[in-house]
Amino acid sequence: MKKHNFSSGPAILPAEVMIEAAEAVKELDDIGLSILEISHRSEAFSSILAEAIALVKELLHLPKGYEVLFLTGGASSQFYMTAMNLLDDAGTAAYVDTGSWSTKAIKEASLFGKIEVIASSKDQNFSYIPKGYDVPDSASYLHLTSNNTIYGTQFKDWPETNVPFVCDMSSDIFSQPIDIDRFGLIYAGAQKNLGPSGTTLVIVREDMLGKVSRTIPTMLDYTTHIKKRSAFNTPPTFPIYVCLLTLRWLERNGGVEKMAEQNLAKAQLLYDAIDANPLIQGKVNREDRSLMNVSFVMADGHEDKESIFWEMCEAADCSGIKGHRTVGGFRASIYNAMPVKSIEVLIDVMNDFANKYA
Ligand SMILES: *Cc1c(COP(=O)(O)O)cnc(C)c1O
Repeated sequence: MKKHNFSSGPAILPAEVMIEAAEAVKELDDIGLSILEISHRSEAFSSILAEAIALVKELLHLPKGYEVLFLTGGASSQFYMTAMNLLDDAGTAAYVDTGSWSTKAIKEASLFGKIEVIASSKDQNFSYIPKGYDVPDSASYLHLTSNNTIYGTQFKDWPETNVPFVCDMSSDIFSQPIDIDRFGLIYAGAQKNLGPSGTTLVIVREDMLGKVSRTIPTMLDYTTHIKKRSAFNTPPTFPIYVCLLTLRWLERNGGVEKMAEQNLAKAQLLYDAIDANPLIQGKVNREDRSLMNVSFVMADGHEDKESIFWEMCEAADCSGIKGHRTVGGFRASIYNAMPVKSIEVLIDVMNDFANKYA
């Protein structure tokens, strides 16, 4: 029996995608070969890559001028690749520090230009999204982390500015529509809401590029991958194929517009159950609560019951709800593919827990 998978990433994928991916490992679309053993230059794979890129453009309604790339190296490589390609030695980039991933992005970008951290929620252990700060017009870009996977906060409104955003959307891409005009570059490791680990989606607007004077190694230069349509070298063929299966699933299921509706309803169910539970409490500022990663802790005075709750979750086959090793507590990740049924099972566990121990 399959468990209820609340893992933060690699994470749950639609059940249909899992079956189709397994089929393609045996044989891809009656071509007499496995997806694992075909050339990245073959007709079959070229059409997979082209369809994946076209579906990203279609689902996110990308206007002309935006390029879609499937790269390797994880979102963590984008922490420096963005600055290397977009920020000149003499330039300044603005960053908002909303958690561990932003902090890492700041550290890596600092190698390539001046970084100004214009707002941070570090003072309160990243439990909120900073608001009401000024973005300097001179900044080459403003870097944001749209959803803070570890802490469970998410941007609901974007800062007022004309400076283009560079955004780490690893854990909420395809969970809702994107106001694309604000974004010069978006990156996302696939393994949260799009596919398996091994590929990173990058969406970049052409006018962001060609503005730095440094020499960029070929593999780290976005223009290389734009010119070669993500096949300059061997791309991660199987992860890209599984991303395509998820993108097709998204298209069949109403796209990001429908996902946004469902994600709001699913998160509401879970947050309501947390707020009504005398033994459990949310961890972050209410208005900044993430619709993807629901973080919670034992209520004050009930900290000693943490392991009891944990064991009850395990017994109900709710997997992966322990908080990140750096922050503790609990975190239920409820990405697009999370069925309402699984959330209801977790809510039943929470209610049982309160009935027995409150
Ligand atoms: C998981 C995650 C990362 C790290 O991704 P890797 O692909 O492991 O490098 C970065 N940013 C956010 C917001 C994440 O959720």
